[in-house]
Amino acid sequence: MSTASLSTLALGDHYARAFPDLAIAWEAAEAPEPRLLVLNDRLAAELGLAPEWLRGQEGLRLLVGTGVPPEAKPVAQAYAGHQFGSYSPRLGDGRALLLGELTPADGRPRDLHLKGSGRTPFSRGGDGFAAVGPMLREHVVSEAMHALGIPTTRSLAVVATGRTVYREQALPGAVLARVASSHLRVGTFQYARATEDTDLLRRLADHAIALHHPHAAEAENPHLALFESVLDAQASLVAGWMLVGFIHGVMNTDNVTISGETIDYGPCAFLDAFDPSTVYSSIDHAGRYAYGNQPAIAEWNLARLAEALLPLIDDDQDKAIELAVDRLGAFRSRYNTAWLAGSRAKLGLPEGLDDTVTTALVNDLLVLLRDNRVDYTSFHRRLGEAARGDLERAREAVLDLAAVDEWLSRWTALAPDADAMDRVNPVYIPRNHLVEEALAAATEGDTAPFERLVAAVRDPYTERDGLDRYAEPAPGDFGAGYQTFCGT
Ligand code: AMP
Ligand code: MG
Repeated sequence: MSTASLSTLALGDHYARAFPDLAIAWEAAEAPEPRLLVLNDRLAAELGLAPEWLRGQEGLRLLVGTGVPPEAKPVAQAYAGHQFGSYSPRLGDGRALLLGELTPADGRPRDLHLKGSGRTPFSRGGDGFAAVGPMLREHVVSEAMHALGIPTTRSLAVVATGRTVYREQALPGAVLARVASSHLRVGTFQYARATEDTDLLRRLADHAIALHHPHAAEAENPHLALFESVLDAQASLVAGWMLVGFIHGVMNTDNVTISGETIDYGPCAFLDAFDPSTVYSSIDHAGRYAYGNQPAIAEWNLARLAEALLPLIDDDQDKAIELAVDRLGAFRSRYNTAWLAGSRAKLGLPEGLDDTVTTALVNDLLVLLRDNRVDYTSFHRRLGEAARGDLERAREAVLDLAAVDEWLSRWTALAPDADAMDRVNPVYIPRNHLVEEALAAATEGDTAPFERLVAAVRDPYTERDGLDRYAEPAPGDFGAGYQTFCGT
């Protein structure tokens, strides 16, 4: 049975009740003229919410936060964070609200959270609002990530509010309704640690263990085990990003989850031509969050989590540091293992293949792609054709024919499995030029290109007729100077 009214919607206030020091009760701003831009019907069904109800007046009010069940207790969550390496002690939900927790039939609780719902006590200089474009970007990119099998928060809906928001220009405003297994961030732990209330920190850590890493509870040192579990989850997450060419763009510690889900899609983008130094974000002047830096940054962010957890790891702080440093040392090998397994799959190679052979093959390929500015995603599909015996389309993507021929002969000698490759190498990703085109049209009121793009990326591995333009690299005149802007 799907919920189809506010009075029967069970929206928990567990976090608000359990962590009053980390949450401020707050209400969403009025939306003058709410209009649904996109609804994730499948996700709604998974959550036990009737899509037709969400489309109606009452549902729309829930999706912008102005109509919540009587017992619900929306809050703005507190967190700190290192932004581009500098510590901010008080960030928090400056334009977001946790409406509460849903408990769908699958038994896994989910946060129902809004972004763009107005000012809160954490807004600092911001207006608390969001524009249609960036909220739709989060919708399509997070749907693509989910379809690619990468853990992520999900977008339930984007609703235009009828309010104009002012950025460099006047833009239509929107609220994104987002679902996540939680909104616990590294920054939440940094905030709790900074209060110097060790009991609060311990309760937060125990909450995270219960919610996301239950096996840590059985460990000899559960809080150290929590750290290791988050480290594993992040190592595997970032490996997943690297394997699909995803650039998060703003890997500040407040944008890193304890669950291991991708969160806070701001100036994110997918690589076109392969180049580890690629940065699309207009605010990332030093290239801190460049594609190729992401694993090292994840490790840096985990060091910040370890610092926050130190009081729980051991009463003797020197001992705690020693233990944390030791566990952090495992990040590189965890990341490499995940990345190598994914790379092997992308190249259709057998699991038993020697790691040094795989590593050399992948690294040589990546150098080839970088030096020849080859489109990362489509090249891997062309390799699938090459594995079936037709080498031409792979060859013609690379200027240096001698080098590609040499590489292809080494690789085909290992008898790659083309079908297995097609199951892991996407045809359709939210390419930057397509995202921009869709967001521009939607901002002007036409959501049809956006809907087509979402439909393409939701089934990324199955090549379909009529979708050629979604599979092709950006036209030559697009790309070099491409920039994404934060959703602020
Ligand atoms: P981000 O890195 O974009 O996820 O956000 C960093 C911080 O800035 C968070 O504390 C946000 O709540 C806050 N923030 C971003 N945009 C706005 C806005 N328009 N108004 C108020 N706060 C904002
Ligand atoms: Mg954020």
